Amino acid sequence: MKYSRRKFIKTSTLAAGSLLYVPAMRNFAAAAKGNAAPIAVYTWNYGTKVGRIALEVIKKGGDGIDSIEKAINSVESDPTVKSVGLGGLPDASGEVTLDASIMDWNGNAGAVAYLKYIENPISVARLVKERTPHVLLAGEGALKFALSNGFKKTNLLTEESKKAWERWKKNHAKKINNHDTIGMLVLDANNNLSGGVSTSGLSYKLPGRVGDSPIIGAGLFVDNAVGAACSTGMGELAIKTSGSFLVVEKMREGYSPEEACKIAVERTTKYGRNQQICFLAMNSKGKVGAYALIRGFSYMVATQQGIKLFASKHLF
Ligand code: ASP
Repeated sequence: MKYSRRKFIKTSTLAAGSLLYVPAMRNFAAAAKGNAAPIAVYTWNYGTKVGRIALEVIKKGGDGIDSIEKAINSVESDPTVKSVGLGGLPDASGEVTLDASIMDWNGNAGAVAYLKYIENPISVARLVKERTPHVLLAGEGALKFALSNGFKKTNLLTEESKKAWERWKKNHAKKINNHDTIGMLVLDANNNLSGGVSTSGLSYKLPGRVGDSPIIGAGLFVDNAVGAACSTGMGELAIKTSGSFLVVEKMREGYSPEEACKIAVERTTKYGRNQQICFLAMNSKGKVGAYALIRGFSYMVATQQGIKLFASKHLF
């Protein structure tokens, strides 16, 4: 996890009275035992506004997919978020390329990879799910599909991100892994599970690199009868272990969401211990759990009782 977000968590914990920073689910019995729907859980500290949007959509009669799309759109369109959508940090050549996926309670999924110029990739992913017989559109084809469905071309590289990239180019030898993904899982008013993820991926990645987020089973997986999971961190680790699918399969075997996430994290350790990988899961009863390889992962749980920030357990 990048330093700035860690710092932000600390300061926002102090600043926002309603925002509790609860170590590893302690004192939040409802989420530990299972919540009554609706419930939205999401990676990192993207703020309480995101959770409020997710719950609001459901209150107005929307389903989990509507809720996830609106909530994630708010993060994608925020130019101050350096890891998602507009303002996301670019690849090594200075181009912002986005990955996103969405999956519903019927097991239908849509995704986009290596998508340029489109501010809201999660919305394009939703249309791939709803308007095509395919799951994943990439690159030029994904862009053409978006434009033909009314999306507008936007310059996603903000001045700030451009400056950061230029600084990186000067210190080329120094490798910087500045990243994060907004991943959200929702149990909606009909007790249906959905999930979505959106990211600009690893900053300064090799042009053409695609991460775990648009790969169903790696960055996201939903089985309405069992649970849903998503990942953030070094996407290559989630791809090589089919991480989110593994978490859901472990929940199917009877493991709690936290135990299932821990097993998936442990599975990645054969590739080393230096790159962060984190999983977030919710089962069909609304029980939530997370696990990270390295200290520093946090996630938010939004229910009608409130929106809270939790520190994930971790291996190292
Ligand atoms: N998983 C994302 C990727 O590898 C990045 C992140 O979530 O930190 O593209």
